Amino acid sequence: MLEPANIQCPYCWEMLGISVDPSVREQSYVEDCQVCCQPILIHVVFEDSGELSVSAHAENE
Ligand SMILES: [Zn+2]
Repeated sequence: MLEPANIQCPYCWEMLGISVDPSVREQSYVEDCQVCCQPILIHVVFEDSGELSVSAHAENE
């Protein structure tokens, strides 16, 4: 079961919908922006409260 989440591209500032796997507590991976095709470093954390925290960074930062 994947959870939907939204991130903002650090390059073109478009809002992007992604799917994350809630069975993994903390993960980071690189996904290309669906709009500008630049590599976005995505960091996903599921908090103890069940809250989903997603951050997106430029890969070269
Ligand atoms: Zn983009």
